[in-house]
Amino acid sequence: MSEAMYRLDPDLPPTPEELQNRPLTPAEQISLRRQVTHQFRGGVTPYLSSLIKSSEAVRKQFVPDYLEGLTFGRAAPFEEGKENNGIYGLERVYADRAVLTPYFDCAAYCRYCFKKTRTLAGDGRVMTENDIQRALAFIAADRRLDTVLITGGDPLARPAMLEGILDGVSRIEHVTKIRIGTRHILFDPAQVTDALCSLLARYNGVSVTDRWRGRSVSVGVSLNHPDELTPEVVAALQRIMRAGISIRGQVVLLKGINDDAGTLGELLNRFVMLAIVPYYLFHCMDVLGTYHFRTSVQKGADILAALAARSGVYAPTYVYVTPVGKHRVGPGTSFDYRTIDGRRYIRAVSPYQAADFLAFSGRDRLPPLHERGPDGRIVSHYLDGNDDAVA
Ligand code: SF4
Repeated sequence: MSEAMYRLDPDLPPTPEELQNRPLTPAEQISLRRQVTHQFRGGVTPYLSSLIKSSEAVRKQFVPDYLEGLTFGRAAPFEEGKENNGIYGLERVYADRAVLTPYFDCAAYCRYCFKKTRTLAGDGRVMTENDIQRALAFIAADRRLDTVLITGGDPLARPAMLEGILDGVSRIEHVTKIRIGTRHILFDPAQVTDALCSLLARYNGVSVTDRWRGRSVSVGVSLNHPDELTPEVVAALQRIMRAGISIRGQVVLLKGINDDAGTLGELLNRFVMLAIVPYYLFHCMDVLGTYHFRTSVQKGADILAALAARSGVYAPTYVYVTPVGKHRVGPGTSFDYRTIDGRRYIRAVSPYQAADFLAFSGRDRLPPLHERGPDGRIVSHYLDGNDDAVA
């Protein structure tokens, strides 16, 4: 090996900055890709496998790339799935919402997501019946918790488990909104059967004549590119809607996949056409192996500005997510940049009180890069991406 070559040691892969000075040779790329497949989980469903063949945008989201092997990103972006308040699978960050992650596995692994990391997600752990009962008791004990988000590992992939949780949550009178986060509709649309939709519908009902009792069940579907709206996926979405369940669309901003006004505009247009409410546009988090997917935060704001001439229904809420919660990026947001260890961060005063975060999460300190501001709100530093092409 010449001195100019990188030492492709699993403990010492190159950083993105090193790559800017000298791209990897083809042989080095192959070697790094091998490490990536060893380091991270991967896999696609038969349905995705055929879609990958016809769509470059889908392929990039599911086929491992050597760039995932660069030394970059955090393994555990937030506490989801860990013991939050001592209960496995429960997360609470906000006053009004609890998150339940009954299990971690997904039927496929999106390359931009931390679920591919073996250390965090690969232990096969699920919420036990005891965990679920303790989580339900936790939610029942605090009337401020009126929203429960059941997310994944994908709840729609395990209907029996989902039914048990829906049953328990729907008995808690002050929970008025149950949300289900899913991408399984893309992974296996045939699994979204009429029977599954009827199951969801059983728990969906608000009685305005009886002092607003009951609750709504809604679905938040993650879709990132118009190619994902295949006839089968659209049919599955329509089965859910025919059962009376509303659907919100969530999108992750991904470099080279949807980071242009044309692509994102088309996706949002399809959402509106299908009666899917454009809900969130997420900036891609700085988790392991995501360097090449991450644009600047500003880029998302610019794209939404370019789409602003359309009617308001096209506008999702644009956010970046830190361990203390979502930070909204409104039109005209100006960023306060800070350089930390040679990298650009966005410093922002969050809307969240430090005391609330500590109380809700059961933690005794704020996460790294977060501090208590003078008025008690949390000041966060979020690693920005960039809009350069990556070799
Ligand atoms: S489906 Fe969702 S949770 Fe699962 S790997 Fe993809 S983005 Fe992550």
